[in-house]
Amino acid sequence: MENCIFCKISKGTAPASVVFEDEICFAFMDIQPVTPGHVLVVPRQHAIGLEDLPPQIGGHLFQVGQKIAAGLKKSDIQSDGINFFLADGAVAFQTVFHVHLHVIPRFSGDGFRLSFGPSYRILPEREELDRLAKLLKSGL
Ligand code: AMP
Ligand code: ZN
Repeated sequence: MENCIFCKISKGTAPASVVFEDEICFAFMDIQPVTPGHVLVVPRQHAIGLEDLPPQIGGHLFQVGQKIAAGLKKSDIQSDGINFFLADGAVAFQTVFHVHLHVIPRFSGDGFRLSFGPSYRILPEREELDRLAKLLKSGL
């Protein structure tokens, strides 16, 4: 896609600090890192979101994410834990519409937080979990 920044990086027509690449994907430093060492793992094939991404490529992205996570832990970048994050859709905070896996190094006091809505603290009854499981199974 001509106007896609991640396609441009893949083709070498936009700059990036690449840490890993193979024929399926590449990984580079996020330009606005949540913590120092924040990496994006991106398929070369343009796919907007999860529905457009062939599952084998999705599996490969996860494997490369694991490799980056292990590399971060071995490196001198502070990384006492790791978050994987993938935003699928604008409502889920996707801002670049070429699917990508965030690999975010974590350490105590890094300031990165998750906040939850008011329903979070209410533990649902088993019946409600079963109802939702049934609904979901009908989609699988
Ligand atoms: P998301 O909100 O999940 O779509 O994340 C998009 C991520 O891409 C953000 O963390 C941005 O900082 C990052 N980003 C956008 N443009 C670039 C770029 N040219 N190079 C590196 N990272 C980028
Ligand atoms: Zn793209």
